Amino acid sequence: MTISGKVVLKQGREQSVLRKHPWIFSGGIASTGGNLGDGDWVEVCTDKGQTLAYGHYQQGSITVRILSFGPSQPDRHFYVSKLNDALQLRHAAGLPTSATNAFRLVHGEGDGLPGLIIDYYDGVSVVQAHSYGMHNDRELIAKALLDVLGTSLHTVYYKSRATLPGKVRETPADGYLSGMGVVPHIILEHQHKFYVDWEEGQKTGFFLDQRENRKLLADFSNGKNVLNTFCYTGGFSVYALKADARLVHSVDASEKAIELTRKNIALNCFDPETHACTATDTFEFLKNKEAFYDVIVLDPPAFAKHRDSRHQAVKGYQRLNTEAMKVIRRGGILFTFSCSQVVDRQLFYDTVVSAAIQAGRDVKVLHHLTQPADHPVSMSHPEGEYLKGLVLYVV
Ligand code: SAH
Repeated sequence: MTISGKVVLKQGREQSVLRKHPWIFSGGIASTGGNLGDGDWVEVCTDKGQTLAYGHYQQGSITVRILSFGPSQPDRHFYVSKLNDALQLRHAAGLPTSATNAFRLVHGEGDGLPGLIIDYYDGVSVVQAHSYGMHNDRELIAKALLDVLGTSLHTVYYKSRATLPGKVRETPADGYLSGMGVVPHIILEHQHKFYVDWEEGQKTGFFLDQRENRKLLADFSNGKNVLNTFCYTGGFSVYALKADARLVHSVDASEKAIELTRKNIALNCFDPETHACTATDTFEFLKNKEAFYDVIVLDPPAFAKHRDSRHQAVKGYQRLNTEAMKVIRRGGILFTFSCSQVVDRQLFYDTVVSAAIQAGRDVKVLHHLTQPADHPVSMSHPEGEYLKGLVLYVV
C-alpha cells in the first residue's frame, strides 16, 4: 500500500487507538505531514514519533479511519487477508448454508474495514463505499474478493453513489467491476426465495439484517392476520405466509417497493387471495383502523441519521408505536424495530414504554432482537450496533 503521509496525534490521544477504536477525530490531531488528499493511506503516530496504525485519511470530523493497528505497514495482500478474516467469521457463524445463500461479507468497523460494506448474493458481491479511501481502493477490493471467493463469485457490482460524501457522489462510478450479473437475481434465505436488484433497489438491493428476525416472525404467524409495515421487498410478509398466516397485508410508501413485494409473493407461489399490498404512508394506514391485526411488524427506515435529529426521531418512534398498539388485537404480537444508530437500545426501549402508556395497553416483552452474526459489532467499536427490536405481547 502506498502511504502518502503522516498524522501526528496530540499528547495522550493515543489511548483510544491503543484500545483499538478505529476513528481518529480531528480534535485529537496535532499535525499532519505530507501532501494529504481525501482517501489517501496515512500513518498514525504519537507525538513522540511512535507508529500506532495505518488508515484512510479524509478531511472532516473523523479524519482517519484505521484499517491496520500496529507498526507494520499494510502490504499489497492487505485486502485479501482482511476479506479472508471476514469470510472465516461468516463460516464460524454457519453461513452460507444450503437454505441461505446471501449474507453480509463485510460490515465496516465490525470487520476492521471502516467505510466498507460488502453484501454477497449467491455469486454476486455488491460493494458499497462510505469513505473516499474505500472508493479509491474499489478495484483492489474487487480483485481481493475474486481471490478470496474464487469460483463462488462471478460478479462484483460497485454501488456507492448514495453513500459517499458529496464530492465523489457527483462522479458516478457505480457499475460492474467484474462480470455482468443479471437483475433481478434470485437468492435463498432460510429457503424463502427473494428477487434482488442491486442496480435499482435500495441500499445494496436487499435488507439482509432482518434474516433471523423474519424467521422468528414465522413462529407467531400461523393462522393470524399479519400486518407488515415498511415492507420494502416483503421479507417479513413472505415468512408469515410460508408459516400459514391467515392473511398478510404489506404496506410501504414506495410504489416500487410494493411492486417488489408483489413479485416476491408470486415467486414463492402463495395464494394471492391471502395477501394484499398498499402503497401508502404507514401513519396514514394505521389511522382509525379497527382492531383487526393479530401481528404487526414496524420496521421503519432510520428516523435519525445524526445526533441532532435524535429528539425528532424519538418522537417518530413513539407516535408509530402508539398508533400500532392502539389498533392491535388483544393478545397481539408487535415486532418493533429501530435501525437508527444514534437511538440506543435503552432509549428505544424507553420510547416504546412511553408508547404503551400513551396507548393505554398492558405490554410484555417476549424478545429483545438485534442484528445477525454477519453484521458483527467489534467490542472496540460499540457504535457498530444499530439494529434494535422488541417482540411485544400486547394485552
Ligand atoms: N422491512 C424491510 C426493510 C424496511 S426499509 C425488509 O425486511 O426488507 C424501510 C422501508 O420503509 C423502505 O422500503 C421505504 O420505502 C419505506 N418507508 C419509508 N417511509 C415510509 C412511510 N412513512 N410509510 C411507509 N413506508 C415507508
